[in-house]
Amino acid sequence: MAKKDIAWSELGFSYMRTNSIARIKFKDGKWGAIELLNDPIVPIHVAATCLHYGQAAFEGLKVFEMKNGDIAAFRPDENAIRMQNTADRLLMECVSTELFLETLNVIVKDNIDFVPPYGTGASLYVRPLLIGSGARIGVQPADEYDFYILVIPVGPYYKNGLSPIDAWIQTEYDRAAPNGLGHVKAGGNYAAALYSDKLGKKAGFPISLYVDSREHKYIEEFGTSNFIAITKDKKYVTSDSHSILPSITNKSLMTLAKDLGMQVERRKITIEELENFVEVGSVGTATVITPISSIAYGEKVYKFGETGKVGETLEKLYNQLQGIQYGDVEDKYGWMYKI
Ligand SMILES: *Cc1c(COP(=O)(O)O)cnc(C)c1O
Repeated sequence: MAKKDIAWSELGFSYMRTNSIARIKFKDGKWGAIELLNDPIVPIHVAATCLHYGQAAFEGLKVFEMKNGDIAAFRPDENAIRMQNTADRLLMECVSTELFLETLNVIVKDNIDFVPPYGTGASLYVRPLLIGSGARIGVQPADEYDFYILVIPVGPYYKNGLSPIDAWIQTEYDRAAPNGLGHVKAGGNYAAALYSDKLGKKAGFPISLYVDSREHKYIEEFGTSNFIAITKDKKYVTSDSHSILPSITNKSLMTLAKDLGMQVERRKITIEELENFVEVGSVGTATVITPISSIAYGEKVYKFGETGKVGETLEKLYNQLQGIQYGDVEDKYGWMYKI
């Protein structure tokens, strides 16, 4: 299939209709066959549990056209496992890793003309979605589920290199309860942060950093990405808490940091400790790393590195991970899953 005629490098991160959406229905105690739907408007029972009671789990990963022409997804088995953990926590039916990967293969092959060419900096964003579709009015888990995968080409996040942004911490609104849903990718977590994220944007902060909801003392993560920091003596530090989503990007960067000879610490981080960091990043699938230039907390503003510039350690880690994803750097851990 010839590539679509799209200005790949100009793409942002927004919905675009592609050839198809994959769907599998769980009914009568078993998963059915993979269907390819052309219409993005899908019928749903008005009493479905996802609509009323939040039985909704999602994932996010990327597929790349690599230097050698291969089309490959970055660590999709990790996303499959994380979605199983979310499903377990919300009493939803699990999608096995095997079925997850099979559906991924089917949907990417059917949309192969939407995979951005190597060298454009763009990629194919993959969004798996699992919802309770069975009707319930009393609060209880559904007996029917729909598993979807949609794919959307997305542009290079950084058109002019890694540009740092400003963050803030507010303690009026929490994102995730200490023993709640923060560690799983449940749809409702994101609705929970919309309001406080909007307050932040109004105050001039494109990204919000959340602290623990019990004491408002320890750094947790950004609304949709993990928190990492580099100390003066080049330690890689990231927060540890039950209410943080285990990011696959962070996990991979920790491996790469160790390869670079860095010490990696996953532990509780107090807000005051921000003083000691020379580089701070927000990490996740969408951007790999977004450097953070400052974090405002009340009257205090913590600044990291030179204004407007990414620090050398985060830049090195970013180049290493992107290099593996595009096939410019050896994939020694076998992270790229060939479609
Ligand atoms: C998805 C997500 C991340 C990033 O995870 P990746 O696997 O690296 O994409 C981090 N934090 C939250 C809250 C998320 O939803």
